[in-house]
Amino acid sequence: MKEEINKLQALQEIDLEIIQLKEQLLLYPPMLKQLEHNLNRHREEHKALVDSKKNHQKTRRELEKEIEFLEEQANKKAQQQMGPKIKQDAYDALKHEIDQFKKQIGELEDKILKSISEEEQLDSTISLGEQNLKREEEESGSEMQRIREQIKSKKERLALREMEREEQKNKVSQPLLAYYNRFYKSYGPNVVVFVEGDSCGGCHMRILPQVMVEIHKGDQIVYCEGCRRILVSPD
Ligand SMILES: [Zn+2]
Repeated sequence: MKEEINKLQALQEIDLEIIQLKEQLLLYPPMLKQLEHNLNRHREEHKALVDSKKNHQKTRRELEKEIEFLEEQANKKAQQQMGPKIKQDAYDALKHEIDQFKKQIGELEDKILKSISEEEQLDSTISLGEQNLKREEEESGSEMQRIREQIKSKKERLALREMEREEQKNKVSQPLLAYYNRFYKSYGPNVVVFVEGDSCGGCHMRILPQVMVEIHKGDQIVYCEGCRRILVSPD
């Protein structure tokens, strides 16, 4: 009988590993997804900074054009001021307009200076971000590679163990296998347990001395009174 139970125990070991492998395989896809998600998010953040720099440059070109236009207008007015026989009133009015243009130009130039200093800050942020992104791409890349290799090897191991399970299953006697399957369905694959001291290794219920003797003899299947697991001696 001991040999019969040993065969069942071997099947149980395979099942425990199969369960573990399946659990591990479930963990990997979310890990990959998370890495990819983080990487994409950081790429987008970086792109937003680069776009913002482009916007700064575009805005500056527009401001420069505006200044050019205002300077032209101011020059025209200045030429009108130089016109012959210009009256004092008209001269003053033109001077006022020219002053207005100059004031606007001054404001636009301030905006340009502000934009340049902002862009300098942006530049250092972008170059730091670029380094970080590059490092993250490398690190995530190798991490994803490592995970994919793990998935591959676990899947191979799982396929092997499932094949071995089919073989092992046929070696176990029919009633024992039926009991195992029934128990497994309700409580999981820990059907055969070792005695720990004088207690059941599954539910830790005390085992009576005469039952302990039976277990050590190994002539028959001994079930735990508490949890109905099959009890075996560890030696
Ligand atoms: Zn028990």
